[in-house]
Amino acid sequence: MKSILPTKEESDEKLLSRRSFFSFAGKMSLAAGVTAVTAGCDGNISGGTGWVPEQYNAKGTFPVQVRGRIPIDPNNVAICRDDKKCILCGQCVEVCEKVQTVMGNYDLPLIDSVPCIDCGQCTLWCPTGAITEVDDTDKVIRALLDPTLHVVVQTAPATRVALGEEFGMQPGKDIELLQVAALRKLGFDKVFDTNFSADLTIMEEATELLQRIQNNGVLPQFTSCSPGWVKFCEMFYPELIPNLSSAKSPMTMLGTMIKTYYAKEQNIDPTKIVSVAIMPCTAKKSEAARPEMNGASVLWEKPDLRDVDIVLTTRELARLIKSHNIDLTSLQPANYDRLMSEYSGAGAIFGVTGGVMEAAVRTSYYFITGERPPEPLFNLQPVRGLEGIKEAALDIPGVGEIRVAVCSGMGNARPVLEAIQKGEKQWHFVEFMGCPGGCIAGGGQPRSALPPSDEIRALRMKALYSKDERATIRLSYENSEIQSIYKQFLGEPCGERAHQLLHTHYQDRSIHFNKKKA
Ligand code: SF4
Ligand code: SF4
Repeated sequence: MKSILPTKEESDEKLLSRRSFFSFAGKMSLAAGVTAVTAGCDGNISGGTGWVPEQYNAKGTFPVQVRGRIPIDPNNVAICRDDKKCILCGQCVEVCEKVQTVMGNYDLPLIDSVPCIDCGQCTLWCPTGAITEVDDTDKVIRALLDPTLHVVVQTAPATRVALGEEFGMQPGKDIELLQVAALRKLGFDKVFDTNFSADLTIMEEATELLQRIQNNGVLPQFTSCSPGWVKFCEMFYPELIPNLSSAKSPMTMLGTMIKTYYAKEQNIDPTKIVSVAIMPCTAKKSEAARPEMNGASVLWEKPDLRDVDIVLTTRELARLIKSHNIDLTSLQPANYDRLMSEYSGAGAIFGVTGGVMEAAVRTSYYFITGERPPEPLFNLQPVRGLEGIKEAALDIPGVGEIRVAVCSGMGNARPVLEAIQKGEKQWHFVEFMGCPGGCIAGGGQPRSALPPSDEIRALRMKALYSKDERATIRLSYENSEIQSIYKQFLGEPCGERAHQLLHTHYQDRSIHFNKKKA
């Protein structure tokens, strides 16, 4: 009987190996070859201008220079590579080394893993799609098919202004309610909004900042919602770990609340809840896997309970929708489920660089003065925009001048962190986001321009600021569901229960690689 498996010869024939790719590309000129693979049939790169790696712009039939590629740890839970698609162009090295300053910032030999902050920026720069997120869509499909499980999903602020690009819509189109409709169609039992827990994060982070200022605590306080940034700090600047806010990210805060507050309210066995998060970020996969992200296990005394069980990127959600033959554009818009979905304009802008800072400043002002913030704090221009490093100083009655800084992309973080270490800057609060531009350009977002372009970042950013402008409430503490959750369940911000469930700790990861010698 003939085996249904192909013979080695048949496999070899079908395999588009790196060598056969080069041979194929050589026949049609390399530049054309790469463009075709990148762009699909029509040769247009959505949102881009036909960019190809520089070395392929030269006429020729074989690359004269192969630049190598980043190493990827086989145990990396965020990114992986299909070696058959890799053309050794070196674009991943370019972004990892020059934009994120990870590769090249450690010495060989490796110790126990390949240093990586899981940011996924290499997935956005790889021209052939060889590097991608680790695909977890099967896990979600299995959970949705299991009638004994209660599958709850949350969606991050930045996914709603990018998902449409996977379906031919304009970059930055806000499809918040279509995204909810698609999730309902896929069969999720409840759909909550991470924008809600962005407001929750602000309540905790602003309270923590106030406590640090009043009690001569460690300053500046660093934001902690970007897992790529947190890992970067743990790896390269572990001596600054005390500066990191202990507040968990909005994703893990909501994950904890789903398995505690929501489970109690609805009388659902938390061990039957599968908590799924749709994120613009590959590093969220490794954040969810951190052993300490198990807040609900404290309340229920069940050590195996995770805050978030499965993270899908925006791209994975798009694949899931397409594989289920759901026509996103013909769906009727649907609303989030109540309890944990109301959000302020401040929560909505968490997805852009400077957004967390602006949101925190508004609420900190109220916490310090007891008064509504003045109008300029609703459009804090010095921290808006795509510049990699921004600064602002504000006079707040009662405490005087508060100095803040905002930084995105880890290449920009190094000079900021070094200025702090040398005592050259005395900021009170610094926002860091792992990816240039913030979550709108996270490593899990649609690859609408190759490499990522500021034009697309700006369109997505504009969409989130527009949500803030149109919001009926623009201050996290005015969110009525936030007020209820503290009154009925959490107690005070940074109080005992809030601390138990919504805060975390960090670890020195510099011990896992050899520090680069000066
Ligand atoms: S995920 Fe980020 S840190 Fe890791 S290899 Fe890619 S660019 Fe470098
Ligand atoms: S960017 Fe992609 S194709 Fe180029 S070397 Fe890296 S993995 Fe290979």
